[in-house]
Amino acid sequence: MPPTPAPPDQPDQPDDTDHAADTDTDTPAFPAPRAADVSTLDTALAHCRACPRLVAWREEAGRIKRKSFADWDYWARPVAGFGPSDAALLLVGLAPAAHGGNRTGRMFTGDRSGDVLVAALHDLGLANQAESTAADDGLRLYGVRFTAPVHCAPPDNKPTPDERDTCRPWLVRELTLLRPTVRAIVVLGSFGWQALFPALTAAGWQVPRPRPKFGHGVRVDIPSATPGATPLALFGSYHVSQQNTFTGRLTPAMLRDVLAAAARAAGLRPAAPKPGRH
Ligand code: SF4
Repeated sequence: MPPTPAPPDQPDQPDDTDHAADTDTDTPAFPAPRAADVSTLDTALAHCRACPRLVAWREEAGRIKRKSFADWDYWARPVAGFGPSDAALLLVGLAPAAHGGNRTGRMFTGDRSGDVLVAALHDLGLANQAESTAADDGLRLYGVRFTAPVHCAPPDNKPTPDERDTCRPWLVRELTLLRPTVRAIVVLGSFGWQALFPALTAAGWQVPRPRPKFGHGVRVDIPSATPGATPLALFGSYHVSQQNTFTGRLTPAMLRDVLAAAARAAGLRPAAPKPGRH
């Protein structure tokens, strides 16, 4: 297999010398609010090295590799959001997987989680194909964007609270830039649910107090802090992790139901799944 190409809709693979003046020592709190658009944000994010433990982990995963991916050049950098910058529906996960997004350079790509999620979106007519295998596989999302509260692969898929908080400015800025179009969010799992609320507040929405509890199928309407502005419909779904999908805790039908409800709330028109889909 040839080296992994730079993910489309994301910045080119940076070399070691092209960011001498940026984020080696900075936190995202400096560059993120200055990003004028989503593309600029994604480019700046790809250079971030603010979390020493995660930088070491993502790079080690790229050196050691999984045996089945031994001939891949891992991305081994922060993984930006994926999908149109005027998305109406945002899907918020947890963090890239060490041998999935961290390998391919695209969120929900190259692992079982991505397979399940993208197949569900395809069933609903929200993606052009059912597979998500590599950054150059031609996947297109329609009105939908992926992102995460933590953009680097963490050991055991468990970022620390400090790492989550350090990464927050990227999410706050992404939400702020998406505000003109985003109308619904699906959060995959309780980690993302908890991580999203302070980012929503910082981006201009009024999160209810006490904070709503996470649950699969839960819907919460979040008003804007700006009077008269369109509210946001927030949905919870179990994460598309192997642990949930292999055990049947999250079935394709359960996932499709939440995605379809959120898509309708976002003003999209999800298709009815083909008969016989489980
Ligand atoms: S997790 Fe976020 S803040 Fe930390 S290094 Fe990665 S992109 Fe930067």
